[in-house]
Amino acid sequence: MGGMSAATMLAKDGYRVLVLEAAHAPGGCSSSYKRKGYTFESGATTLIGFDKHQPMRILEKELGITLPKKAIEPSMTVHQNGKEIVRWQDQDKWLKEAVKHFGEESAQTAFWKLAQKVSDVVWKVSGKNNLFPPREVTDWFQLFKNDPRDVWVLPYALKSVKDVAISCGISNPEYLRFIDEQLLISAQSHAIDTPFLFGAPAMTYTNYTNYYVPGGLIEMINTLKRYLVEKGGELHTKERVMSVDKDESGHYLVSTSKKNMYQAPIVISNIPIWNMPEITTGKMSDYFTAQSDKFDEAWGAFTMGIVTDDVYPEGLSLHHQIHVSDDEKTKLFQSDSVFVSFSHSDDSVRTPKGKRVLNVSTHAVPEKWFTLNGDYELYKHQVQEQIIQVLRKKLPGFDAAEIEIAFSSTPVTWSRWVSREKGRVGGIPQSMNRSLLDWTPNKTPFEGLYLTGDTVFPGQGIPGVTLSGINVYYRILKNLKKYSFH
Ligand SMILES: Cc1cc2nc3c(=O)[nH]c(=O)nc-3n(C[C@H](O)[C@H](O)[C@H](O)COP(=O)(O)OP(=O)(O)OC[C@H]3O[C@@H](n4cnc5c(N)ncnc54)[C@H](O)[C@@H]3O)c2cc1C
Repeated sequence: MGGMSAATMLAKDGYRVLVLEAAHAPGGCSSSYKRKGYTFESGATTLIGFDKHQPMRILEKELGITLPKKAIEPSMTVHQNGKEIVRWQDQDKWLKEAVKHFGEESAQTAFWKLAQKVSDVVWKVSGKNNLFPPREVTDWFQLFKNDPRDVWVLPYALKSVKDVAISCGISNPEYLRFIDEQLLISAQSHAIDTPFLFGAPAMTYTNYTNYYVPGGLIEMINTLKRYLVEKGGELHTKERVMSVDKDESGHYLVSTSKKNMYQAPIVISNIPIWNMPEITTGKMSDYFTAQSDKFDEAWGAFTMGIVTDDVYPEGLSLHHQIHVSDDEKTKLFQSDSVFVSFSHSDDSVRTPKGKRVLNVSTHAVPEKWFTLNGDYELYKHQVQEQIIQVLRKKLPGFDAAEIEIAFSSTPVTWSRWVSREKGRVGGIPQSMNRSLLDWTPNKTPFEGLYLTGDTVFPGQGIPGVTLSGINVYYRILKNLKKYSFH
């Protein structure tokens, strides 16, 4: 999605754009695939970013298109210690729900009101500061154009979500665990490690309009692909980039698995920084090795596709976060929660009537899955069975449902499907040790080589990587005079 947003933005202005995709279909972690007649999501299932100042709305507006989507409510239900906590979109309704389950009314009111205010400012500011983090002296001018009344949010880059929660008066440990698991969905870290500046939008994502894409997220990607092609661009699937070099004229040479060699003044790489050393040499490779060493920890995912008959209670949320207790964990299933997303009951493209697809995902330590040798299938089966047990116990309706299909993917599978180094997905976890200026920028030290995707600023999630694509477009426009097109 990072690459597709940069590509379509450039194609809009008439540049000749070629997208090279290694897999058989575009979209990577926000795509869909068919199996036995059903459509499964490859990774992402929830979609936000179409509200005021948010990246998906900016992309739609810039391209003059509407991406296929259907608003959903509620955004999610969380199952924790026998409680069913509904994450309503409406802020007041959500606050009442949170107080009903966790008490501490005045502390929670202070916490959520602050989180929503910070989040609104973060979206407003991030959509406008396309040259962040600054790489050139003139980039700083853009920062001075910000509304000085928004500066109050900046100190929250240095305070963790946990510190802010405690300073608001929150003390209930069960509630702190709730926040930890909610943060893990989009910040990839717990409250103690997440700066409130990033944690606020992560925790309140359910309070913006949440969408479902009928037919699966591939339909969003296909809409962008059609736009690209209409504007004269090309998208080649099953064509892996093998190397990126510079020739004597200063142009880039991109060689691919189909033995093609493309020459271009500008190359945008949407693969993780960890993958870059293997396709570059010399100083370029050194730079990406240094960036990879700087951010050497990331999550992997254990994901499942399940098809059952549609026996679920009416009005059940499409998305669920289910907390896992210690006695439900196994050696390779150590996560504290599992995320489950249903296909919409009216989505006849993904399933025939009377069936539902469930996409299940949980955080995994990727390294552990690459060293199992002969025990790999055994552990994969064990984790799958354990997750099914958790769903039987805690997901409403699942125990009565007949499972028609169930299969799973480990970080090893992920490393093959999206070619991501070590099967690392979901970007770089938030950390209190990283300043805003520490993020890998979209502009590399190599003129004409840019980066998008979830390992560069502003980070993971569909809106995050879409913004990275929009930002690269603006950066290229700024530097346009430096390139010769022929
Ligand atoms: C299980 C899971 C659930 C998630 N849930 C959500 C969610 O609900 N909502 C949300 O907003 N976000 C979610 N995310 C995060 C979101 O999906 C990602 O952050 C985002 O899609 C990443 O996009 P990207 O463009 O950076 O990278 P990718 O999607 O990884 O795209 C990179 C592309 O590059 C291709 N590629 C790799 N190497 C090469 C090469 N050498 N040559 C050519 N092509 C190559 C890959 O095949 C891939 O298509 C989830 C992620 C996962 C893994």
